[in-house]
Amino acid sequence: MTSHDWETDALCAQVGGDEWFPESSQGVSEAIAICRRCPAITACLAAAMAEEAGLGPAHRHGIRGGLTRRQRAERARKTATAA
Ligand code: SF4
Repeated sequence: MTSHDWETDALCAQVGGDEWFPESSQGVSEAIAICRRCPAITACLAAAMAEEAGLGPAHRHGIRGGLTRRQRAERARKTATAA
C-alpha cells in the first residue's frame, strides 16, 4: 500500500469539478457533506495536515478531509499548542 492508495476511494475524484473550492457558504456545506460520507476522510485529512504543515489559512486551499482551510489551520494551531 502506498501513501496515496486512499485516493482511489476519494468521493471527490468520482464527483469531480470545482466543488472542493466553493465560493459560497452553501457550496462549503455541500462539499463537507460529501466529505463526511467519504471512506477516505481520515487519510485525506492526515495528508492535508502533513502537506500544509506550517502554513496559515491564506496558503491552504479548498475543502480537504471535511474541513475548510481555516478549520485546518485552526486544527494545526491547536495541535502545535498542545504539543
Ligand atoms: S474527504 Fe478528502 S478525499 Fe474524501 S471527498 Fe473530501 S476532500 Fe475528497
